[in-house]
Amino acid sequence: MSKVLFTHSYFYKFDTKQWDTKQPYPPLGTLYAASFLRYKGISVSLFDTNLTDSVADIIPSLEREKPEYLVIYDDGFNYLTKMCLTKMREAAFELCALGKDHNCIVIVSGSDSMDHYENYLDHLADFIITGEGEITLNELIHTLESGVSNFDSIDGLIFRRNGITTRTKKREILQNLDLLPFPALDLVDIEKYISIWVSQHGYFSLNVATTRGCPFKCNWCAKPIYGTRYNSRTPTNVADELQILINQFGASHFWFCDDIFGLKPGWIMEFRDIVKQRGLKFRFKIQSRVDLLLNENTIDALYESGVDTVWIGAESGSQKILDAMDKGTSVEQIYKATRILKKKNIRVALFIQLGYLGETNEDINKTIAMIKDLLPDDIGISVSYPLPGTRFYEIVKNDLTVKTNWSDSDDLAMMFRSTFPPQYYKLLHRHIHNIYRLAKSLKVWKIFLTEPFKQNLSTLKTAMSAFYYMPRIFLGSIRLWITRFEL
Ligand code: SF4
Repeated sequence: MSKVLFTHSYFYKFDTKQWDTKQPYPPLGTLYAASFLRYKGISVSLFDTNLTDSVADIIPSLEREKPEYLVIYDDGFNYLTKMCLTKMREAAFELCALGKDHNCIVIVSGSDSMDHYENYLDHLADFIITGEGEITLNELIHTLESGVSNFDSIDGLIFRRNGITTRTKKREILQNLDLLPFPALDLVDIEKYISIWVSQHGYFSLNVATTRGCPFKCNWCAKPIYGTRYNSRTPTNVADELQILINQFGASHFWFCDDIFGLKPGWIMEFRDIVKQRGLKFRFKIQSRVDLLLNENTIDALYESGVDTVWIGAESGSQKILDAMDKGTSVEQIYKATRILKKKNIRVALFIQLGYLGETNEDINKTIAMIKDLLPDDIGISVSYPLPGTRFYEIVKNDLTVKTNWSDSDDLAMMFRSTFPPQYYKLLHRHIHNIYRLAKSLKVWKIFLTEPFKQNLSTLKTAMSAFYYMPRIFLGSIRLWITRFEL
């Protein structure tokens, strides 16, 4: 029997788009917190919702473990939890109720519970943790265990006292991340993850966080958990963890889920040196910014460490929109960074954001032209999402529609009045994907025509897909034109 049963509110199966990619990652933030509590002498167990079918699947764990505390601790490293999806919020509320049915004290930590804490308290959560949670959770459990019922001295908490919502001081963030024990991967059913990855992709990938926070100030980006301070683990500490993950679980690929990988000067070079010294062999993907990818030495070091794909927050091909977002980067840098990465044989993927305030047809055309010019290896298109706590939210909050959150990550509903009607952006999203695929297909045609006998079946299929996309783009343009004028 454990004192604390950890869980979290993300269910891949409730998010069809993500589930279909079959790239599940264990709930890293949850595993960090569980590991920290265990290190502090508290008995812990985990019910991992990621791969389960329903909220009720937790009941056998509650009955078996009879925990005193149910901790719904979302994985703050996963961008999906930052989206505050309503399907997961409803799941969190059900988990709270089940926890109370089983006489648990219910503690919740996550982006959505921070934004909507009254709602969570109304749905039977006893405590909400704000910001980085490990230390707060540990102090809270020890205080509760000692029988003290005054929580004012615990920073980073929201709770109700005599029906009045009380908030304690802000929790200072951790500076030395090397002091944290590695995430408690032994608590998840790792074989399930391995089997999905290996059967679908032929290798096993795990998630690793080397940093917390991001110092940049893109005005639509919410960073409720780790904030705007940037703290980094040492390359040695990261390599120690990777070595375990490779040796114990057979991982050969990693997703470094940092907002920004390797921002600290010299970090990437030092990491490359340690990886080489230890002879560690793995591939990895990262997220970064174009202004950090202009130095060829850095790119070489990334390549030599094993980088496979770099996801870049390009957002728009219009400088006007990048400036409006306070992105702090230029379109020219997007072109330059993409070309350097491609030259070094690193896959480049661009995040694109549509519908930012003031974006016109001309801006959209610039974004499309940029995608066609650069032909990245992948694109991820989203629409502007006003998240509470951001400057962008403050700008558009008076124009918000009734809907203020997406139901799942494929929702992509426009939740404020932008230049065009909401349905326009849904069509545009698909239309740009079609244009991108056609452009890739036409590129393959060029290769095909120059060396027809050297091509394989897959190249032929890509080339032929042009005939599929061309009529779709034609019809899509007409539908988009009509939709622009709909209310
Ligand atoms: S660089 Fe990325 S993580 Fe940092 S503020 Fe901008 S969008 Fe957010």
